[in-house]
Amino acid sequence: MTSEFELIRRFFTRTTAHSDLGVGDDAALFRARPNMQLAVSTDVLVAGTHFFPDTEPEALGWKTAAVNISDMAAMAAEPRWMLLALSLPEVDDMWIARFSSGFSMCCAEFGVDWIGGDTTRGPLNLCATIIGEVPQGRSIRRSSAKVGDDIWISGNPGLAALGLQHLQGNAQLDDGWRDTCLDALHRPQPRVALGIALRGIANAMLDVSDGLLGDLGHILEQSCCGAEIEESCLPLAKLTEACNDIELARKALFSGGDDYELLFTAAAPQRAALKALSDQCVLPVTRIGSITNDSSAIWLISDNGSRQQLAAAGYDHFAGDNG
Ligand code: ADP
Ligand code: MG
Repeated sequence: MTSEFELIRRFFTRTTAHSDLGVGDDAALFRARPNMQLAVSTDVLVAGTHFFPDTEPEALGWKTAAVNISDMAAMAAEPRWMLLALSLPEVDDMWIARFSSGFSMCCAEFGVDWIGGDTTRGPLNLCATIIGEVPQGRSIRRSSAKVGDDIWISGNPGLAALGLQHLQGNAQLDDGWRDTCLDALHRPQPRVALGIALRGIANAMLDVSDGLLGDLGHILEQSCCGAEIEESCLPLAKLTEACNDIELARKALFSGGDDYELLFTAAAPQRAALKALSDQCVLPVTRIGSITNDSSAIWLISDNGSRQQLAAAGYDHFAGDNG
């Protein structure tokens, strides 16, 4: 039977690149670089709520790291250090080896040192904490969108939601797109390079984890403004091609989380800079609408100019609870 300390030594100890002390002592040690603010965030993933318990362990490891790294991207911070607290129902060496391989692969890919954590027995529960650095005063918050700003989204949000719908038996995906959608669901790519490049360009930003409309609602609420979304600008082409169902595609785009794309606002004169940046990051960014002074309301403007108010509803873990 593998002991807790044996587990830590075998599976959770990695060499570190920019820390003074990693796994093994009572605490890790690291230093922020001069003139940097520290950004810190934590996310918990629970079996049955955030992932199917039979998800490939490598994918789960990757995703646990990726969702935390994405929070650094969303602040325009550089991800640097990660801690992982996990509870495991049993010691399954193969499962833990594969999980930690996915987790550390994602950390390595984004230059993050895995410097510590905690390991205990209990229902499968994964909680990572990320620490990043951002030059003093250059982070990008949710609260600073300005009336007249363009609203932009990176990549093709909705692909992960289609992957999930497929796994739940609710969506038939085109053969050529199935792997793309499942990959988006299982191996999200945090937009770190884009987030950093948006310093000084974007006014407000967040990463979309609970659906585009719900997360846009957070920016609107914190910035005390509203939004108009132009139907003709929505990046629906790939989603429609994947599932052959325009309604499902639109639902995946508006309400699907899990892609971890960046949603941001920027003044109109930044359009040329954003085009250049999109080419440089090899990542499409799409202008989907603009910020208005209509407090917290989201209006969809159709091709013929008609207006429909949309609910800013994302995924809410407590929705429907009475307590
Ligand atoms: P303590 O009893 O002092 O809290 P632990 O025995 O929990 O220490 O942990 C010993 C070392 O192993 C610490 O450096 C801790 O950060 C590290 N560690 C424990 N679990 C993990 C994990 N899942 N990932 C990375 N490091 C871990
Ligand atoms: Mg101790």
